[in-house]
Amino acid sequence: ASAARAPEGGRFRVESENTTYEADGIRSRFVDRGAEVIRGEDGKYTVKKTETAYEFFTKSRVGKVGLLLVGLGGNNGTTTLATHLANKHNISWHTKSGVQTPNYIGSLVRASTVRLGTDSETGKDVHIPMGDMLPMVHPDDFVIGGWDISGMRMDKAMERAQVLDWDLQRQLGVYMKDIKPMPGIYYPDFIAANQADRADNLLPGSDKQAHLEHLRSDIRGFKATHDLDNLVVLWTANTERYAEIIPGVNDTADNLLAAIKASHDEVSPSTIFAVAAILEGVPFINGSPQNTFVPGCMELAERHQSFIGGDDFKSGQTKVKSVLAEFLVNAGIKPLSIASYNHLGNNDGKNLSSHAQFRSKEISKSSVVDDMVAANPILYKTAAQLTAKTGEVHKKGEHPDHIVVIKHVPAVGDSKRAIDEYYSELLMGGRNVMNIFNECEDSLLATPLIFDLAILAELLTRITYRQLPAPNAAETETETEFKPLYSVLSLLSFMLKAPLVKPGTDVVNSLNRQRNGLEAFLKACVGLEGSGDLMLNTRVW
Ligand code: NAD
Repeated sequence: ASAARAPEGGRFRVESENTTYEADGIRSRFVDRGAEVIRGEDGKYTVKKTETAYEFFTKSRVGKVGLLLVGLGGNNGTTTLATHLANKHNISWHTKSGVQTPNYIGSLVRASTVRLGTDSETGKDVHIPMGDMLPMVHPDDFVIGGWDISGMRMDKAMERAQVLDWDLQRQLGVYMKDIKPMPGIYYPDFIAANQADRADNLLPGSDKQAHLEHLRSDIRGFKATHDLDNLVVLWTANTERYAEIIPGVNDTADNLLAAIKASHDEVSPSTIFAVAAILEGVPFINGSPQNTFVPGCMELAERHQSFIGGDDFKSGQTKVKSVLAEFLVNAGIKPLSIASYNHLGNNDGKNLSSHAQFRSKEISKSSVVDDMVAANPILYKTAAQLTAKTGEVHKKGEHPDHIVVIKHVPAVGDSKRAIDEYYSELLMGGRNVMNIFNECEDSLLATPLIFDLAILAELLTRITYRQLPAPNAAETETETEFKPLYSVLSLLSFMLKAPLVKPGTDVVNSLNRQRNGLEAFLKACVGLEGSGDLMLNTRVW
């Protein structure tokens, strides 16, 4: 089915000397144009234009793709499997407002579009689904499996989640009743004590090396059983507490591997899963806020040129915040405080009612406005500006007050409530208060992100590149070998609250910038320029 859905070369063809369609993929040449800024001693900037030329190759054969979820039996896990099955088998169901058909609403890849260009006859914009930009796996075609420390059958686990309408659950039962998650690993110290009563499906013992090897063989076994070409592993299990970073234990790849051999207490289940995926050469995405990717784990991914992405799905409140805070700051308005309150009644909320796990979430939710604040020293004085102004040494620049509260309220179930107050300074000392009240099923927001993360991660494993000589440089600078992209897939940032990026590079939290970055990259892979909003034809005679 996937071959029919994702025709080689996609739905359009670029006619350009930069783009060639070959039997096994698309080759494109692209010049990345930027600007280098040099700060002079007099404080003035000198700006030089930069050009870096690349060649990309995207393998067009998608093949059969597996998706292994850690936490398959949870609200997100069961909703992901159920959504996939309902779409694949085209199951409609009755609700009090009528008949509902399955869909992928909320998915960037499946439900949003990209501007391809302007119509040759009408001059109007032409849009295509983002999923048609390059050959990508269709979510109906995933082979889904996974692990859970709760061994409940998937039909019963879906019922426990209380997310989907009963008439849909009733019809899906036949497809889900024979699926049981593979046993998980449970180190009680990492998740809330209140999770103990569901932990009945566990790999035996406490030998972390044996656990790692078991998970690696699960991954290999799943690939072989289903004859898969590619596979993505994604953590949507409980939020863990932060792992302490201890020199000699998890600070380097070798130390981490040795710590696993020694079953060191500070190696978390999620890090074991990540290491298993890295060693098996399949992408690992972390949908929860904990620091799964301790420095040793990052180094291991780099060493194996294996792909990782994280952290924490950006589904509701933070997504809105990354838009609203950017809007305010980019409009020249100064948020003085952002106060966020959440309450939810599902098992995620229960786990987060424990302090150490809440702390992971608090950290992940807190950094989201940092880059926007740092980009505007007119509104927010930097440490250097404050020091110069007051004469006292300031280590930190100005920042809005930002608090995050999460409470467990069982009655509301998966329907999370998020309340945010934005308090801002306006012209001439004026003040503005804006309140947002957001209510919806958390798992219906997270599920499409799980599909997007898996679809895009799989695509990015099929893209390789090499650097070409800059347009005016000598031929000798061409790299001959094609390489995979850098291990940390920051292109997935749109879907993630605390995006993991290449060390030493800036984190981008702005939702618009994240989307533009992804769109521009997909276009570069077919040799097209990102569509800026210059629209000169509308500005000139
Ligand atoms: P959930 O509690 O319903 O599901 C988590 C599942 O993971 C449970 O079934 C649990 O038994 C299982 N589990 C725990 N530890 C495990 C381990 N070591 N190995 C295997 N399975 C394990 O939670 P959920 O609502 O599905 O959310 C999942 C995660 O996604 C949470 O960490 C949550 O914070 C994160 N998240 C969710 C959203 C959202 O919108 N739903 C947004 C951002 C992040």
